[in-house]
Amino acid sequence: MHAGSLLAALGSFLQARAQGALWRLRIDDIDPPRAVSGSVGAIQVSLETHGLRFDGDIQYQSDHAHRYDQALKTLDELGDLFHCSCTRAMLDATGSCQNDCASKNFTTTEPTSIRVKVPQNTVITLNDTFLGRQNWHLGQQLSNFVVRRRDGLYAYQLAAALDDVAPLATQVIRGRDLLDSTPRQIFLQRRLALPSPEYGHLPVLKDQYGAKLSKQQGASALDNKHPAKNLRSALRDLGQPPPPSELTDSESVLEWSRSRWDPLRVPR
Ligand SMILES: [Zn+2]
Repeated sequence: MHAGSLLAALGSFLQARAQGALWRLRIDDIDPPRAVSGSVGAIQVSLETHGLRFDGDIQYQSDHAHRYDQALKTLDELGDLFHCSCTRAMLDATGSCQNDCASKNFTTTEPTSIRVKVPQNTVITLNDTFLGRQNWHLGQQLSNFVVRRRDGLYAYQLAAALDDVAPLATQVIRGRDLLDSTPRQIFLQRRLALPSPEYGHLPVLKDQYGAKLSKQQGASALDNKHPAKNLRSALRDLGQPPPPSELTDSESVLEWSRSRWDPLRVPR
């Protein structure tokens, strides 16, 4: 974990705990080439060192193929899906297929992605925990998007939409870099008659070049020797009051912060 992932973990932990809710850990590992062996163990150690204890077992998206297949079947029965053979260069600026793939017949051996059609009049409204009301004219912004990739892997939008519903999840707290994904996921939940959770998008830490902190971009790992210091820094970025200096262990910093957690103080 790096400072950016701690910020998201801490914000979601405090939001859950302040409401007496459970806090679950899910590993989004549907993209095997990106999964790093040993990283789950390292995440667990880092969370525990910072006093961030999750409830229940870890969930793995790679265990949910049946759920994703079932949803694709339902969407197909609704007539919402079509195959697309476009390469990236053939797509429009929004990543939508504009090449009439929906009316083509493909052979089963041709590599295609599967896309879901978004009707032109689709409007998605969201009452974000931190940002307030958000509106998207999704049908005008996006005419279709990928739910199963050309390489056969499930698209992130599909997997997240299906895993982020009650009773699996009632509230999803994550980084603002995913705000653009949320209307697509709500759209899929609606088509599948699933209850959307409440969504809240936290600020994202950026490096000196304005890019989101990420392991791929070389963000340095958290120093697990100084958990309370790391938590204080994350609390500051979340706009929360600084815990008294005599609190030096992560447990007491978290307990103090939990009882004072105020989502309205999170920077917009
Ligand atoms: Zn196409």
